[in-house]
Amino acid sequence: MFSLPTLLTISIENNFHGFFLHYQPQLCPDSGRLYGAEALARWSCAGYGNVAPDVFIPMLEETGRIVEFEKWVFREAASQCKRWAALRPDFRMSVNLSCRHLEQADLGRYAQDELKRLGLAPSNMMFELTESWPLLPGAPCQSGKAAAGRKEAAAGGAVVSSLKETGIRLAMDDFGSGYSSLLSLQKFPFDLVKIDREFVKGTARGGAQAAFVPSLTRLCHSVGCQVCLEGVETAEEYEAVRRLGIEVMQGYYFGRPVPAEEFERLYL
Ligand code: C2E
Ligand code: CA
Ligand code: CA
Repeated sequence: MFSLPTLLTISIENNFHGFFLHYQPQLCPDSGRLYGAEALARWSCAGYGNVAPDVFIPMLEETGRIVEFEKWVFREAASQCKRWAALRPDFRMSVNLSCRHLEQADLGRYAQDELKRLGLAPSNMMFELTESWPLLPGAPCQSGKAAAGRKEAAAGGAVVSSLKETGIRLAMDDFGSGYSSLLSLQKFPFDLVKIDREFVKGTARGGAQAAFVPSLTRLCHSVGCQVCLEGVETAEEYEAVRRLGIEVMQGYYFGRPVPAEEFERLYL
């Protein structure tokens, strides 16, 4: 049997055969309205069945295929968004971005061309960047040497600025889980901050644990960012956070990632 990295390469070279996207709803808690969806990559291959993105995304990064893969994800998600934006003009589709895009910094141009081809407004799309992005010297995606780190951070900042210029929205993913959350928030023009799903677990428990989501929300609002709370799983958690003025929520309580047809049937 072939190894997983070999099968990944075969899938990509076979026109992304075996890859597909699931969509998880994001809701506005005040109005109950649909805000948009996060596109999440899935891969199914002969011999191994469904392989989790936490397994195949790092492999794609290591084998140098992540950039072309994520261009495919962007193209699929944007054409799906075009269809859903016809039903809900303010629909927002989020896609995740690996920090390996730094090595091939033409993503902004690529995204703009795709949106033009589709006739879709950039404001309907959002990129999610995690803290592994080298926005500041010493981020996990970097080589580890101080001088190289500064150079990579400058390149990271330049890519973020060029993405921002396209009009596509930017979100900071998994906020609070890494060492540089606060500095990145201070220095970069994020439109939305996604509070890491670990924090919501503490809210329903009360005590000191419950202080984090309200405090992080106030901080994000005070620097002009909207907030998305990730990982809301139960009615108790929702009850504990629903009055904090959080603009967007996502989690199994509202809906799991599902195929496009099911998303459309359930939420549109
Ligand atoms: P992420 O960006 O933080 O995506 C959210 C993950 O949390 C998804 O897992 C989703 O299914 C899961 N999730 C959503 N709601 C809940 C909840 O209420 N409770 C719990 N426990 N989990 C919840 P998934 O789909 O397995 O994706 C895992 C990670 O794989 C993603 O984390 C993202 O980092 C990465 N990933 C997926 N697709 C792509 C992609 O196209 N490009 C890149 N670079 N990464 C991707
Ligand atoms: Ca994400
Ligand atoms: Ca996340």
